[in-house]
Amino acid sequence: MEYKYNAIILNKIDTGETDRVYVVYTLEAGRILARAIGVKKPNAKLAGNLEPITYCEIFLAKGKGRGNITGAIPIELFFAIKENISALEKVFGALKIFNRLVTQEEKDEKTFQLLLNYLIAMEKITKETKESNLKFDILTLGFVFKLLQNLGYEMETKKCAKCAKKLVAGENYFNAERGGIICPACARMQNNKIRITDEAVKLIRIFLDNKIENLGKIKTESQNLRNPKIIAMEAVRWVVG
Ligand SMILES: [Zn+2]
Repeated sequence: MEYKYNAIILNKIDTGETDRVYVVYTLEAGRILARAIGVKKPNAKLAGNLEPITYCEIFLAKGKGRGNITGAIPIELFFAIKENISALEKVFGALKIFNRLVTQEEKDEKTFQLLLNYLIAMEKITKETKESNLKFDILTLGFVFKLLQNLGYEMETKKCAKCAKKLVAGENYFNAERGGIICPACARMQNNKIRITDEAVKLIRIFLDNKIENLGKIKTESQNLRNPKIIAMEAVRWVVG
């Protein structure tokens, strides 16, 4: 049987002299592994369409177990990202986190759309502006928070994740186990807490309440991203276990 998938190529792994295994995130089945036979031969046309960070239609011949890729039609190659070192670095960082958090072969249209829209937004920014490091950073950080939200780890940012009192600006903490921000009174009795800045709380709320494609418009300074980055890493670390 041959199957068609809408796929985003996440990674490629060399296996043997001419073959590769591709890690692919699909609209139809979530994360899958697929083999491409002879893809490393010099005249193989398939390889170019299967580079990581490519959106394509792939055709898979499936018998038992892992399928073989028989063809790929590119839809979006994301050339601007691939030619921009700092964009590329950010996207690879995001994909690394994605690979750690999304490990199952399980259909999830929302997550597929989020990943695709993140790449489209990064591509757009790369084309529009030269000095876009800060925008790359904001978008990528927003992507991580939205990904956690999609996967069922939405961060509580409005009321204390422990006592449910409304949070007030000034002194607050993040606790991964509680899944959100906790007030100073609760923080006193809580291990593994990280101080969270008011600016970080504001940013995370914006990330969670807005579409990924609109996050490039956020105005902030790069120093304001330091704290929410630490919070994101702590949340990912806790979810992965
Ligand atoms: Zn509290």
